[in-house]
Amino acid sequence: MPDVRTAEVIAVGTELLLGETHDTNSAELAGSLAALGVDVYWSQRVGDNLERVREALERALGRSDLVVLTGGLGPTDDDLTRDAVACVLGETATVDPALEAWLRERFAAFRRDMPERNLRQAERIPSAEALPNPIGTAPGWLVRVHRDGRDLTVVTLPGPPREMRRMWHHEAVPRLSFGGGALYARTFKTLGVGESDVAVRLGDLTAGANPSVATYAKRDGVHVRVAAKGIDADDARRRAVAVEADVGDLLGDSVWGHDDDTLAELAVAALQRRGATLAVAEVASGGALADLLSDVTGAEGTLGGAVIAWGPETMATLGVATDLLARLPASAAEAVAALATSVRALFDVDYGVAVGPAFPHAGDGADDVSGPDRNESAATRVVIAIAAPGGTTVRPLTFPPLGRAWLRERLAFTSLFLLRSSLS
Ligand code: ATP
Ligand code: MG
Repeated sequence: MPDVRTAEVIAVGTELLLGETHDTNSAELAGSLAALGVDVYWSQRVGDNLERVREALERALGRSDLVVLTGGLGPTDDDLTRDAVACVLGETATVDPALEAWLRERFAAFRRDMPERNLRQAERIPSAEALPNPIGTAPGWLVRVHRDGRDLTVVTLPGPPREMRRMWHHEAVPRLSFGGGALYARTFKTLGVGESDVAVRLGDLTAGANPSVATYAKRDGVHVRVAAKGIDADDARRRAVAVEADVGDLLGDSVWGHDDDTLAELAVAALQRRGATLAVAEVASGGALADLLSDVTGAEGTLGGAVIAWGPETMATLGVATDLLARLPASAAEAVAALATSVRALFDVDYGVAVGPAFPHAGDGADDVSGPDRNESAATRVVIAIAAPGGTTVRPLTFPPLGRAWLRERLAFTSLFLLRSSLS
């Protein structure tokens, strides 16, 4: 079996071109192909149009060893990926009795009559091997093609992401051979340093090709990815090791995790290691912190309670002294600290985190764990307080004017970052 060295993804579907559906399939496949050491130089997106899918496939076969099409395997007239492949390869699709039997059984299992139009999904061209789809109704195809002296492969996958994912990993990949080496990648996740500051710290390292070092501004901070290609997994890792260590040193304390780590999981794990519990009170983050914490599996025993306080009245209800609130704005450090100790006492937990109200700030070089470097003219200031068994710490933070949604989310991530730092 010839090795796949280059691949190209074609995502089929008019809704992808209209922006109604995010083309996550292409992104997932690209990530998987990169991890398999395959070079992806092109990726196409095309509507449900026979002529254009044909054209996209022709073009892809002229330059890539493997072409993966997703979508357009359904039973309706606008599902024409099968027709396009048949047409380009000069073959005719006919109903495969084995696939038809499987499809009829599948409908019977759901106690439904199979509409005749679904028979299209049991079609196969002679040179295609059917890829089973135990979680849907559309089987895929794997076709080996010899063209102009080159050994090529065409794979068709269903559009629904979970069907696509299963078929790719469990049916298509095991039938292919990837001799192009392996990719090693390690992602450092940071918070508190803007992307350009990260780039300054990394210096020349970002200019290298193998290993490559690249920065990405993400919702939970700036990610730095070190990637290396090698002849096999060990070789790839060896090539990355020195640069990976340098990147870790240069980023220092701003690194909160790696690869698939999430801040919420790490913060909950740090609490659990101490047998400690947590409650949160949010003003400017409006529930975004509770939202992130709710996503952590197994966190129930660690999380005592979460409240959103829209204003001083709710802060008072939670236990913040009314004379303090009469004397100071609710956004003041002292008031937010009192909110943290109040929510800690109210829910009888070890740690209380409070995210205070946002207030405008002219910018005076205050401690900033915010994110992208932007003009600070209309910066927002928010105090985050953490009430712990050993006392309460207060952090006034300045955030760039990137909108409420961004601020809410960044406050949630920043709170978790500070909580985790205080626990380590
Ligand atoms: P079906 O049998 O469901 O019709 P299909 O193979 O014909 O499957 P499509 O009709 O193209 O696939 O897409 C079905 C659904 O899968 C779309 O409505 C969309 O939600 C999702 N989908 C399709 N393509 C993509 C893609 N590239 N990225 C993410 N989701 C996609
Ligand atoms: Mg469809």
